[in-house]
Amino acid sequence: MAVSDHVDLPTFMEGVKKRNPYQPEFVQAVQEVAEDIFDFMADKEQYHAQQILRRIAEPDRVVSFRVCWEDDAGNIRVQRGWRVQNNNAIGPYKGGIRFHPSVTESVLKFLAFEQTFKNALTGLPMGGGKGGSNFNPKGKSVREIMRFCQSFMTELYRHIGADVDVPAGDIGVGGREIGYMFGQYKRITNQFTGVLTGKGLEWGGSLIRTEATGYGAVYFLANMLATKGEDLVGKTAVISGSGNVATHAAEKIVQLGGKVLTLSDSGGYIHDPDGIDQAKIDWVKDLKNVRRGRIEEYVAAFPKASFVKGKTPWGVPCDVALPCATQNELLGEDAKMLVANGCKAVAEGANMPTDLDGVHTFKAAKILYAPGKASNAGGVAVSGLEMSQNSERRSWKEEELQQMLKDIMLGIHQSCLEYGDQGGGYTDYVKGANIAGFKKVADAMLAFGVV
Ligand code: NDP
Repeated sequence: MAVSDHVDLPTFMEGVKKRNPYQPEFVQAVQEVAEDIFDFMADKEQYHAQQILRRIAEPDRVVSFRVCWEDDAGNIRVQRGWRVQNNNAIGPYKGGIRFHPSVTESVLKFLAFEQTFKNALTGLPMGGGKGGSNFNPKGKSVREIMRFCQSFMTELYRHIGADVDVPAGDIGVGGREIGYMFGQYKRITNQFTGVLTGKGLEWGGSLIRTEATGYGAVYFLANMLATKGEDLVGKTAVISGSGNVATHAAEKIVQLGGKVLTLSDSGGYIHDPDGIDQAKIDWVKDLKNVRRGRIEEYVAAFPKASFVKGKTPWGVPCDVALPCATQNELLGEDAKMLVANGCKAVAEGANMPTDLDGVHTFKAAKILYAPGKASNAGGVAVSGLEMSQNSERRSWKEEELQQMLKDIMLGIHQSCLEYGDQGGGYTDYVKGANIAGFKKVADAMLAFGVV
């Protein structure tokens, strides 16, 4: 039998780069996973012979489409939309929709690839997908947002379905946008099904979905600290972002006795030495979700805080750090600064916020470092629970869901310990998450043969 995939890591990555020119984010995500999987596969011929990693690193399909809409001034606007269906070996494709000007096919391919492993880690039957558009929601009127969402769904609806592909929210897509897209799906298909998650509570949504990613990331952080006999009480936290994930991570840090020092947006970061307590977090939620303002407005309301324009917050000394904004927002130099300032633990709320240099820095320093595919899986986990509730036509109580979220995050932590234990009390959580997620998807693919 030909063993054509029995190549070494550099040769494998050479092929990935050649097949995906101009897609740096996708190549970066594959590289990070391949570094660990090649070690794991060294003595496992079946994965090589069946070219499993190469197959996971080639999306099942990438749908690209035009999205036309009319702005309030009557101008015709043309955007690009995508849905990347990466792998459905263990369940329907599942992953968010992102509206942001930085969205490209490369960004969505990296996100769909990562999502495949993340979803496997939750233990729920979900494959990996991701979608979005380079549409910029900032500064748009509510009616423009609605028209865009409707136009986007007018194409997307034919590629998704409750048992096919179930999108959710992501950057720039919250409850409002999910509402407009669900409304349009329902209108076109005349079906009320669980085709999207992150829905409103009155129309099929699940309790705690909004909070789940941020809360889950902090549960994961607490699980990591517990392995060292520590908790969050009295610990200082530096958080980036001020959207859904960041504000709910901040909320849970405060609930568990920690002190949040920073939040940010693409304009810069605010540093509040008094700590960002629950009342201030509520103020930020209102600023971002209702008034649609900028984080720099915080200093006018809370004068002891300062705003640092155009910078990320990683230079502020802290015990724990949670990057919760976007990809590649924490670079090698930032990682070195965090380690030098005594940061003990990093839990990623965002997807791939740390670049490869930064990942290598955290690993070399042997601090507690959780990759997003493990620590931010709480959101998709509760999305999976929303799918179950939709299928059963019922709603679970908040306490039940909170417990399920905690249990799932603990289960993911256990999987990371199982496959990431390096001896001497050090766990490589990146390796643990990559191997645990890969093994589940890979074994399903082996069962299906060459398809
Ligand atoms: P939101 O749109 O609610 O918030 C995004 C935040 O990140 C905003 O503060 C935004 O600032 C900031 N941001 C976005 N792009 C950039 C950029 N290029 N540079 C600096 N700051 C930026 O998104 P979410 O909170 O939902 O998502 C944040 C991250 O978490 C993403 O990586 C997402 O993929 C990931 N994630 C989200 C999940 C969810 O359930 N929502 C689930 C799992 C992961 P500004 O307002 O200036 O744009």
